[in-house]
Amino acid sequence: MREVDLIIIGAGPAGMSAAGRAAECGLSVVILDEQPVAGGQIYRDVDRASALRGDILGKDFTEGQKLTQRLDHKNITHLKGAVVWQIEDGPRVSYTHAGQGGTVCAKRLLLATGALERPMPIPGWTLPGVMTAGAAQILLKQSGIACKGAVLVGSGPLLYLIGSQMVRAGVPPLALVETQTRHDFIGSLRHLGGALRGWRYLLKGAAMLWHLRRARVPRYVAASSLAIEGKEAAQAVAFTSKGKSRRIACETVLLHHGVVPNTQTARSIDIPHQWDEEQACFVPQCDEWGRTPKTDVFIAGDGAGIGGAKAAALAGEIAALDIACDLGQLTSADRDAAARPLRARLINERAARPFIDSAYPPYAAALAPQDATIVCRCEEVTAGDIRRMAGLGCTGPNQTKAFGRAGMGPCQGRYCGLTVTRLLADANGVSPDETGHYRIRPPIKPVTLGEIAAMTPQETKADSK
Ligand SMILES: Cc1cc2nc3c(=O)[nH]c(=O)nc-3n(C[C@H](O)[C@H](O)[C@H](O)COP(=O)(O)OP(=O)(O)OC[C@H]3O[C@@H](n4cnc5c(N)ncnc54)[C@H](O)[C@@H]3O)c2cc1C
Repeated sequence: MREVDLIIIGAGPAGMSAAGRAAECGLSVVILDEQPVAGGQIYRDVDRASALRGDILGKDFTEGQKLTQRLDHKNITHLKGAVVWQIEDGPRVSYTHAGQGGTVCAKRLLLATGALERPMPIPGWTLPGVMTAGAAQILLKQSGIACKGAVLVGSGPLLYLIGSQMVRAGVPPLALVETQTRHDFIGSLRHLGGALRGWRYLLKGAAMLWHLRRARVPRYVAASSLAIEGKEAAQAVAFTSKGKSRRIACETVLLHHGVVPNTQTARSIDIPHQWDEEQACFVPQCDEWGRTPKTDVFIAGDGAGIGGAKAAALAGEIAALDIACDLGQLTSADRDAAARPLRARLINERAARPFIDSAYPPYAAALAPQDATIVCRCEEVTAGDIRRMAGLGCTGPNQTKAFGRAGMGPCQGRYCGLTVTRLLADANGVSPDETGHYRIRPPIKPVTLGEIAAMTPQETKADSK
């Protein structure tokens, strides 16, 4: 079994910058990511895609190459396409790579598993032709496929980014249907001070909106009563905007109303989480270095709370400095001196976040979906089923597994978890913290018996105890 100083799960901005800094401090690093190449969500396939379609994806995308270059260091082993399915004390991480199970042990573990798009369960969201806006962007980044005649629905700056990338790709969206309201915008003005400090983000947002307007993409705001119509597949988006009922015929609907931390790996090792009201999601407990109550485990990047790619990269470096100090490669004075400028930049990067979060809240009706809407897609459990379970005395998501298999499918509750917590909390009149989340058990990601069988006896020894 391989043993190193530091294991990092996730080769996005947080993981790549942490690996680079840790390696420069003299630590041996293994970085695992299920993606075939480095980059994470924002810089997905950046080394190849920059040359092919950098003009479409933009400068914010292509500059990710600076981070992928940091992995080119003799102290770093990057296991590409390695799916992590179990973490144990040690820390000891089991993964599947090239069809075979493997295990690696380290003195410290950094979870840099990033974010997931917040699920948007509205009527018709499971029809063929409906996907998340992020999924459409993955098609564009990785395969150069742009969705023609699509309607973008939801809220948040990522919708503008993806919309303007579609314009540059020559397939502008048919329309932008946005759920945020004037009331949300007025409420967000209390965070204007922070927004002005993060003025670069405001400027970028304004430029993207201008780009969409110039391309004559119609924008409908304050949309409510959203539904996707169709029998066998999506045929139209129906909604109300400014008191008018509207219907846009289309075969592709791209949904997005923000991203939330991917907490599966942290939860699988019982790191405590708490509800963040501003971001309407759970965040793991960790200190200013990213250290969790399990002192050999750190978390950095969007997995610790949504902050964006630049903040993720800075948080990764900061965590690496503390890890290097822990392992005797830096004095605490050197660690603090190196962290100081990074922290100053981090504060600036995060300054606009409260403004963005309150100007673009998630679509309320998708947080409390109609009874007939499916919330757990793997097991086809509806919002009404979850409410009925609450009526029968079900208090937390773990019990919904026994009551009706919610969260027991291959995604292990990654997509329905937040919705199920919210539905139970509302039905039982308690907070999301009191309601809790699914208990996450290995395998975190699907693994075959063949892959486990192909592990060496030494690798499986601890598992058989
Ligand atoms: C679909 C999507 C698209 C986005 N696009 C943009 C964009 O264009 N611009 C922008 O500014 N922001 C974008 N964001 C937000 C962006 O993700 C973050 O701000 C930034 O990428 C966070 O960096 P990170 O290092 O924390 O995590 P990420 O970049 O998300 O990297 C996490 C990595 O962890 C890996 N991982 C997770 N679990 C496992 C596991 N069990 N085994 C192995 N590997 C694992 C993932 O494959 C991923 O590569 C997007 C988010 C999503 C969800």
